[in-house]
Amino acid sequence: MHRMTLGSFELTAFSDGTYPLDGGAFFGVVPKIMWSRKMEADEKNYVTAGLNSLLIRTGDQTVLVETGMGNKLSERMVKFYGQPAKLIDNLAQGGVAPDEIDIVINSHLHFDHCGWNTVRDANGKIVPTFSRAKYYAPEGEWQYSRKPSERDAISYIPDNYDPLVGSGQMTLLKGGEEIVPGISVKTFPGHTANMQAIMVESQGKTACYISDLMPTSAHIDLTWGMSFDLYPLDTIESKKRYYAKAIPEKWLTVFTHDPKTPWAYIERDEIGKMVAKGV
Ligand SMILES: [Zn+2]
Repeated sequence: MHRMTLGSFELTAFSDGTYPLDGGAFFGVVPKIMWSRKMEADEKNYVTAGLNSLLIRTGDQTVLVETGMGNKLSERMVKFYGQPAKLIDNLAQGGVAPDEIDIVINSHLHFDHCGWNTVRDANGKIVPTFSRAKYYAPEGEWQYSRKPSERDAISYIPDNYDPLVGSGQMTLLKGGEEIVPGISVKTFPGHTANMQAIMVESQGKTACYISDLMPTSAHIDLTWGMSFDLYPLDTIESKKRYYAKAIPEKWLTVFTHDPKTPWAYIERDEIGKMVAKGV
């Protein structure tokens, strides 16, 4: 298990499992001859993607950032992605019960980021998985999810968030809000227009759950974006804005989809290339 302290906070990475993703889709315009040095593809050109959630114990509250793919995928989607659905078991193994979670934060509302927000109960009714938790997600994402483009409509599953918005259990964020002392959100456009990174700050130390702006440690180069990104040029600008602070201030970067390295420090080497230093 990946666990560390950040100031007075405890951080733990919990996985919802791994799933196959087309390597070309994962690395956009980057030629396979380059990305295949960093991530191995199988005979169908699939690579293995992770589903990392971040649990933060602040001392006062237990905060869960992102809830993986969940267990409500349609049969058609299971054909593409499988449905690992391991988060709740992995949390239990780490001694965390769903009703211990005080706060759930989603960076955006694609199905592989908020899947365990809700489950179906015995009667088929959608209910919150984390019954006591207050949920948070970007307001712009939720507005967009109601009328997504044809290109990414498949990524939005309303059962993951609409019942929570409807009941008032989910609060929608503009970006920039502090949710609890030391935990706030910051908008980084590119993957979607309104995706928010989650900033974690304690005693002068900072971690950032950068979500799909840099899904894995293989995506840290400025131009290595995913083909899923709706605004690829904004992805580059957002990465520049991120590095301008994250590198000099030595932020810990948390990667959603890295199957092996949930977090690392990003540095620039002598020739200006980005390198991820594991913890
Ligand atoms: Zn996404």
